[in-house]
Amino acid sequence: MENNYQSFLIKYNEIGLKGKNRYVFEDALVDNIKKSLNNSSIFNVYKEQERIYVEANADFDYNDTLNKLKHIFGIYSISPVLKLNFTSDYEKLKSTVLSFVENTYGKNNNKTFKIITRRVNKKFPMHSNDINMELGHEVLMNFPNMTVDVHNPDIYITIEIRNHINIYSEIIPGLGGMPIGTSGKAMLLLSGGIDSPVAGYMVSKRGVIIEAIYFHAPPFTSDRAKQKVIDLAKIISAYSSTIKLHIINFTDIQTYIYDNCPQDELTIIMRRYMMKIAEKIAIEDNCSALVTGESIGQVASQTMESLFCTNSICKLPVFRPVIAFDKEEIITLSKKIDTYNTSILPYEDCCTIFVAKHPVTKPKLDKIIKSETKLIDIDEKINIAINNREIVYC
Ligand code: ATP
Ligand code: MG
Repeated sequence: MENNYQSFLIKYNEIGLKGKNRYVFEDALVDNIKKSLNNSSIFNVYKEQERIYVEANADFDYNDTLNKLKHIFGIYSISPVLKLNFTSDYEKLKSTVLSFVENTYGKNNNKTFKIITRRVNKKFPMHSNDINMELGHEVLMNFPNMTVDVHNPDIYITIEIRNHINIYSEIIPGLGGMPIGTSGKAMLLLSGGIDSPVAGYMVSKRGVIIEAIYFHAPPFTSDRAKQKVIDLAKIISAYSSTIKLHIINFTDIQTYIYDNCPQDELTIIMRRYMMKIAEKIAIEDNCSALVTGESIGQVASQTMESLFCTNSICKLPVFRPVIAFDKEEIITLSKKIDTYNTSILPYEDCCTIFVAKHPVTKPKLDKIIKSETKLIDIDEKINIAINNREIVYC
């Protein structure tokens, strides 16, 4: 598309419903849009009459800007818009609409169309219906291949007469969801797999700020595996805000569990201590929930019984947005959000290195807790791991 536009009209739906708090959501969305456009002075971002405008005052990269807007939660739709200062002069409106159609679709386009006028500002002297009729006629006269279809047109040429006049036709879907920062903060257990990045994306979508925690086991896991997780956090952060990633060296704890606990319970006990450590840091950093990529029955550590055992070690709520998704559904989403190709890189994971051949699929919590009593130094080891953690802002 040619770079004819100086502005985008942004519509939001769900945040429009928030009653007295609506301005909080709108202001957060305006702020997030500014941040995503690097607070560039090229753009004036502001709200007016339940819409947000992104107005450029100099040349800008249309595709790059549109792509950034498509990554922002809370946006329902994005329309490149031609803004005209208010005029009561129909001739001026007419010539602007005709040049808008020509610049957007070309002189010889064969679109079917319908004109929709909303006259909010009654200072404009003609009624909406009359404007629709007159302009429809003008479009037909000026564009020989265009035809009217009032029921199912290719394009709706929309004219909103407000304090200024908006002319637009394209409605590009946004991501939906809620603006980041309007729903508190959660700690994502981020592995290098397919599921947890998707889980992080889904919770971010509801406006939640995400921190992440990754457990690795050097030298059994490599720097490449760690870099992969950093890369995944960066991909998710394009939808949210900068992600504070806590990297925990889990080797000592894993070896300790390995040496002291029954083989078939290793995975479940390791998972419990991951949750425990994640929760400690989450509370320190004011996160009010944990997030994992668990899905019922996917592996032995994700049966209902295993989930119960893992869950019962922490007090914070644990959100598992992909709990009822099939693997295929998770993969489809991971492709859509662009994490898939990174997730499938074949680097080792700490869970798979210390895994038992025949893990218990129906663990009993009291038995697990009894096995854990052998881990007399575990609290000290946890503190050391937490104190020595590496923090990367992604
Ligand atoms: P994923 O694809 O997200 O790695 P998975 O199918 O491999 O999931 P598990 O390895 O059982 O499943 O992990 C279940 C969840 O536990 C993950 O989705 C993630 O939230 C968390 N998790 C597992 N390993 C790690 C790790 N090394 N660091 C941080 N979180 C982890
Ligand atoms: Mg995994």
